Parts: sequence; structure tokens; C-alpha cells
Amino acid sequence: MFGQMMDYPLTISTIIDHGYATFPKKEVITYMPDGSIHRYTIADLYRRSKRLSHALVHKLGVRRGDFVGTFAWNHYMHLELYFGVPGAGAICHTINIRLASSQTEFIINNAEDACIFIDANLVQLLEPIATKLATVRSYIIMGAPENFATTLPNVIYYEDLIRDSPEDLAWESVGENEACGMCYTSGTTGLPKGVLYSHRSTCLHAIIAGLPNCCGISSADRVLVIVPQFHVMAWGLPYAAILAGSTMVMPSCLLQAEPLINMIIRENINKAGGVPTIWQNVYSMLRKNNIKTLPLKEFLVGGAAVPPNLIENFEKEFGITVIHAWGMTETSPLGAVCRLQPEHEKLSAEEKLRIQSLQGQKPPLTELRIVTEKGEIAPRDGKTVGEIEIRGAWIINSYFKTSSRENFSADGWFKTGDVGTINPEGYLQITDRAKDLIKSGGEWISSVSLEVTIMAHPLIREAAVIAIPDEVWSERPLAAVVLRDQNEPVSAHELRVFLSGSFAKYQLPDKFVFVGEIPKTSVGKFDKKKLRQLFAEGKL
Ligand code: AMP
Repeated sequence: MFGQMMDYPLTISTIIDHGYATFPKKEVITYMPDGSIHRYTIADLYRRSKRLSHALVHKLGVRRGDFVGTFAWNHYMHLELYFGVPGAGAICHTINIRLASSQTEFIINNAEDACIFIDANLVQLLEPIATKLATVRSYIIMGAPENFATTLPNVIYYEDLIRDSPEDLAWESVGENEACGMCYTSGTTGLPKGVLYSHRSTCLHAIIAGLPNCCGISSADRVLVIVPQFHVMAWGLPYAAILAGSTMVMPSCLLQAEPLINMIIRENINKAGGVPTIWQNVYSMLRKNNIKTLPLKEFLVGGAAVPPNLIENFEKEFGITVIHAWGMTETSPLGAVCRLQPEHEKLSAEEKLRIQSLQGQKPPLTELRIVTEKGEIAPRDGKTVGEIEIRGAWIINSYFKTSSRENFSADGWFKTGDVGTINPEGYLQITDRAKDLIKSGGEWISSVSLEVTIMAHPLIREAAVIAIPDEVWSERPLAAVVLRDQNEPVSAHELRVFLSGSFAKYQLPDKFVFVGEIPKTSVGKFDKKKLRQLFAEGKL
């Protein structure tokens, strides 16, 4: 027998409708590239999203199921696209602005974007490939200054597009399982792959992301969304923030530590989300400028492992709680969030830090398991290492336009390619990417653990560890490290002594190479493929 409740589809329009009905006066603030500050309310966001939706259909001829590309920083117009595009029944394809142009060309053609909404200060990245983007009928320019010029064809200005459109249209009535958004993986090992989010998966993700055990946001919060909107829909934070009625601050391209600190202070930000490098930079700048307090109470950090000393420094010096989280494009992205539970309060600071450095516990509506090399499901003992598999309400079921099941288990779980353990309390620890594993003399060495521990050294800014071939041990770890200050060197011997408290002798890197910078991927992660290539070419 069926339950007798309404069939009420979980769609993106219900998110903005709720924001409009309940928190119309809440502010959405953008720090614009030219230094000006744009402020408006959720009611304005709602109305302009409606006008955009209307213009998409009636002026640009966008139809249900079409892909609409965005090539933009974090700002209010990009938010309007987050609501206006799915509201028209189309799919908001957020294009990573940092990809190599060949990859950008590939994903736009693969998605068959009908039009692209692009920031005026980014047009130079698409101009050289525009002739190869056959499906793109028009380019809509956002934030164009006076006397703006571009060689992009069929240009329309954003404000011109939405100016005369009515704001009283009804959202397109879509099914909750229809697609609302798409992001491509960053493609460090081959071509990027499209991940197609549904209205339902995005709504459920937004609801759960707001919970106290996850990102924990409410109408009392002022959230700075640092993670780019083109990176896994800014971790879903905009949707979660509108549902929760939080005030949202968007930094556009002002992602350097100084403007971010300025925003945090001026806008009285208490919550934020960004990758570890951003927070490392913020911390260094706070020290440099001798800033002792911030309104920030906690921030979310993920996308790469977080060095424990970063967590400790923010906690001790600023009273800011660092919430470590794990996820990926294929998982929308929330796959684990690390919060201390009440029973942990009695633990020592050191024990608490050890827990906070883990990647965390799974959110509701998802499941995690570890599968060993032998194909067995590992016990949750915090020791048995294997590949992390996940399934749940917002986890990928298949990649866009491919029928390959390579990344899925026979019983339908997504194989993440990350390797780690789960402890009896359900806390996940990532020890590596499968492709970055180091096997030395038959024993696994965790490159991630080495990296975060080396980065805990006060004189080290960044560290990436790769496997290098070795005749005796088959592989040995090599650490590429960046000094915090060139005038304060540290020797390989000192680093080895520093590490020996936490690692067995065979796990210590044989070589430390001091470099000016570690190559990064398009989403700011250590590019170990590039590092291995540099090593192979004798350039490290
Ligand atoms: P992306 O799809 O670009 O967001 O990349 C996802 C990958 O980033 C994951 O598969 C992990 O390898 C890595 N990652 C994300 N969060 C963390 C974390 N907290 N600790 C370690 N690695 C992480």
C-alpha cells in the first residue's frame, strides 16, 4: 500500500521559493573585481532569477534539457544562474575556468552548451577557442565595464538580456529526477568526465549539508563562499545557505588572503568554506599583519588533506574551529564531515586534534565502505586499508555520455579511487589516491600522512610526496617541499628527525627536494602526475 502523502517534487525552484517566502530580506553580498561591493537581498535574487529564466526561454531559445554554460567567479549573477537555469528546465553547466584550453574546448563540446554566461574579465580565456565551440549560439557577458570589447561572437550583455523580462513567470515544471546541473571532474588522469546532478540529489544534498553535524548553517549565520562556484557547485553551499536563510558573501576573483580577511572582518563572517591552501594563506597573512581576532567561528576545509597544525593554529590562536570534510565532484561533494562529538569533549587537546585531522563521518543518506585489495569489505577498525566506496542519495550513478562501469562495483557502489580506513566510530581517514600509492618493500606508505606531517613543520609551507622507482624496495617516497621563507632553510636531516616521531624508519622519505612551488591542478591540488613527470625528466 502506498502512503497517502503529496507527491511534491524536490526541485531547485523549491529552494529559492523557500528563501523568498521566508528570508526575503536576507542579504547576498558580492565583492566585485573592481573593488565595489554589490548588495541585494534574497528577494532580489529570486526576482532576477525569474527574469533570467524567462529570458533564457524567450530570448535565447533555451529548451528543457539544454545545457547552459557558466564561466565565472563567485557572484550574484552566477547565483542567479544557479536558480534561473534549472528554473527554466535547463541544466547549469559550471565550467572550470582554470582548465587547459584543450580541456575547456572538450567539455563545452561534450556538454553541447547552447550558450555561455561569461565574466567580462575571463573572455580572453574563451576567445582563442570560440571558433571551435560549434554548439554555442551566444555569449552573455557579465559585469562588463564601459568600453568593453571582445572577439567572442554573438555577444549579449547580461543586464540587457534580463532588463525587460517579466518576473512573474512560473518555474518550468520539471521532474525531480531531471538534471539541474553539471560539473566535470578535473581530469588529471585523462579527459574530464561529466557528472550530471539531478534536482532531487541537489535538494537532498542542500538539506543535509545544512544540518548541525554537517556544515551546520542557519539563518543566524553569515557565510563566505570561497570555494568556486565552478567547483562542485561551490560544495552546494549556495543552495544550503538559501534554504537555511544565511547571509551569503561572494568574493568574485578576490581570492587572495588580504581581501578575504577584509571581507571576514567587514561583513562579520562567522562561517566559510575553502580549500587548505586558501586557509594556509589566510593564516600566514593574519600572522604577518599581526591580526589577533576574527569574527569567524568555524570554517569548512576540504578538497585535499588538512595539515593538523593548521587546525591547531586556528583553534589555539583565534578560537576558530576547523571542520575537515571529504568529497569529490562525483559525490556532490559531501562524503564525510569531521566534527567532534560530545563524548570527545573529555579528551586531551592532542587526542581531539587527532580526530579533527580525520576526514570525518558520513552524512545521512549516504553509506561508506572500505574494500581491500582482496575484494573483501574491511572491518571498521581504523587500520585495514582499502579503496573507499560510497553510495547514497547524491552519489553518481554513471558518467555523462559513457556507459563504462569501470568506476562502479558489481553491486552498484561508486569506487572513489581514494584509499583509506574507517574507525569504529565511523570516521574516515584518507591515506592516498589509489594512483598515488607508494609500495616499498611490500609495505604501503601513506603519502597523505607524510605530507600533512611535513607541512606541520613551522618552516615548511607545502609538501607533496610521490613514489620514485627503487631497485631494492621497488618504490621509495620522495618529498617535494616548499619553504615558508627562503631565508629560513631547513635540512633534509632535520625534516627526517622531525618525522621520525610519527613514522617508522622505512616510511621516511629518502629524498627531500626543495622547490619554489609545487605544481597544482586546475582546482588547486598538488599535481603529483606533473611531479612524477618532472622527476622522470630529471627536472626535480
Ligand atoms: P574533486 O573531484 O576535484 O573535488 O577531487 C576529489 C578528490 O580530492 C578526492 O577523491 C580526494 O582524493 C581529494 N580530497 C577531497 N577532500 C579531501 C580531504 N579532506 N582529504 C584528502 N583528500 C581529499
